[in-house]
Amino acid sequence: MESNEINERLRESEERYQHLVHMLPDGLIIFCEGYIVFANRTLLSIFGVSRLDEIIGHPMNEFVHPEFLELFPVNINYLIRDANPSKFINYKLLRLNQEPFEVELRAVEVMFEGKQAVQLIIRDISNRIRMEASLHEKDFLYKSLMENVVAGVFVGQKNNIVYANPYLADMFGYSEKELLMISLIDLMSEDEVNRIQNEVMQSMANGNIQFPLKFKGKKKDGTPIYVEGNSSLIMLDGLPSLLGTVQDVTFKREKEKLLRDSAKLYQKMIKFVPEPIVISDEGIIVYANKLALQLIGLDEESQVINRSLFEFIHPSQHSATLETVHNIMSSDDATPFQERIIVRSEGQFMDVEISSIRINNYMGKDVMLSVIRDLTDRKRSEEVLIRSEKLSAIGQLAAGVAHEIRNPLTALKGFTQLLSARYPEQPQYFDIMANEIDRITLIVNEFMTLAKPHFTQFNYEPLEPILQSVLSILETQAILLNVELKVCFDHTRPMIFCNADQLRQVFLNLIKNALEAMPQGGEVVLTVATTDDGKVQIRIKDGGIGIPEELIKKIGEPFVTTKEKGTGLGIMISTRIIEAHKGTLRISSVINEGTVVEIILPVQEQEESKS
Ligand code: ADP
Ligand code: MG
Repeated sequence: MESNEINERLRESEERYQHLVHMLPDGLIIFCEGYIVFANRTLLSIFGVSRLDEIIGHPMNEFVHPEFLELFPVNINYLIRDANPSKFINYKLLRLNQEPFEVELRAVEVMFEGKQAVQLIIRDISNRIRMEASLHEKDFLYKSLMENVVAGVFVGQKNNIVYANPYLADMFGYSEKELLMISLIDLMSEDEVNRIQNEVMQSMANGNIQFPLKFKGKKKDGTPIYVEGNSSLIMLDGLPSLLGTVQDVTFKREKEKLLRDSAKLYQKMIKFVPEPIVISDEGIIVYANKLALQLIGLDEESQVINRSLFEFIHPSQHSATLETVHNIMSSDDATPFQERIIVRSEGQFMDVEISSIRINNYMGKDVMLSVIRDLTDRKRSEEVLIRSEKLSAIGQLAAGVAHEIRNPLTALKGFTQLLSARYPEQPQYFDIMANEIDRITLIVNEFMTLAKPHFTQFNYEPLEPILQSVLSILETQAILLNVELKVCFDHTRPMIFCNADQLRQVFLNLIKNALEAMPQGGEVVLTVATTDDGKVQIRIKDGGIGIPEELIKKIGEPFVTTKEKGTGLGIMISTRIIEAHKGTLRISSVINEGTVVEIILPVQEQEESKS
């Protein structure tokens, strides 16, 4: 190889080397005998100079921080001694403007132009140090924040706890260090682990970054702890992590449980009260006992819970009820019973009376407890009372007067017949007189039956002959009115403990009414059947004019009649008789379609009837 060529190669390689040296991110200096003989371009910015000749040719000491000057040669010796390039010391140098700055200093011995020299590698770390300092400050800030925050804070990666604050440690009874060694799962009650994990996964899958946390946890000593809080997904050290903040709500839960228990106690007490009771919170039903449900016509508590009270109260009474709801809240006393109409589940109205009182602290709230009383029975018995009073008054009257009237009537009838025989030329007057006397006699006789029931004799009698005898009496009248009398007996031949005369009178009254309701003719059907519960049912069905609704209620009261020659006593007496036989009489009717009268009578058991 020619020396030219060698020189050329050397030059090239030196150029490459120089190029490389100038591109280095670190500053590179060679100094020899205290003077800088070489500097790379990176140093321009590090030393804050504009040209390299501001460095090269200058004593090295110009760039060393005064504090370090004295020991500089010793330090360099330390660095170059074992020629380990990774060995460095932190050092302070000076920029051209005398500003000190921190560096990492490495040094090796080199030969420069035949002389021993030192090559320094200078890494400016002043920025890093500044950043580290500020990072440190922030760290400190966060740390003190986390340590003083009154909530448990943790960071979990997978199931590992990578951070936990002292509050959390305290909450779960661990030390902070212990917490870092256990798994998140150890903080959960066993039966909750799956649910919580699923929830977290679900939230992540839904892309939620923040979601609520609420679970039953487990302390170090195994006692349960209820916590509630929030969690967020964060990145920590490049790993997805779960940041959680939680509060101990065990106490709150216990308080809630206490409240629930006391509410349950109330409910239990109310269950035993033999009155319908409803508890409502601002007009919304929160509890109703069995009797209240029955009253409304529902089976399940769930069918009324959370519904408005007002759904069950007649609209005309909403404002009055609202007033009660308001008044209750400012008073300690129960309201007096107020009459209300409630709307039952199937829309029927029902007369009730309601008294309400405020109850404190039912599930932590002030609520209204209402006691309801069904007035239907009372109203009905009031009606019965009025009617029976009326009846007994009539009865007494009839007993006192009927006899006194009957005797003179017999005399009048006799003399009328006598006179009519004597004056045959004007028979119509006597006919009228005789007819009217008959009518008075009829009324008086009916009065007599009213007074008599107490003394009547009861016997076991078959029902069929009684009905037959009535039918034969009425046959002629039916034919005259063009009414067909149909009879349907079923196979049973019931025996009834009764007074046959009285029953005859009942059927006579009722069938007569049926015939009289059909001026245009038609058919009257009489059926006798046995009911499911073994009683005998007698129905008299006509296709007559029917009874207007308002009249149906009144029928049965004395002297209610729509007939010119009616007495208005027939149905009253019949009802009276049937009741004396421990039976019931019911009338239903549709105007212009017809009327059905239904009588139910107890049947005499065969053995009993023999005895
Ligand atoms: P009276 O027959 O003397 O009027 P009742 O007590 O027997 O007295 O009947 C009272 C009223 O009831 C009758 O006037 C009539 O208006 C009505 N009524 C009773 N039964 C019937 C019926 N089958 N069809 C239509 N109306 C009836
Ligand atoms: Mg009648």
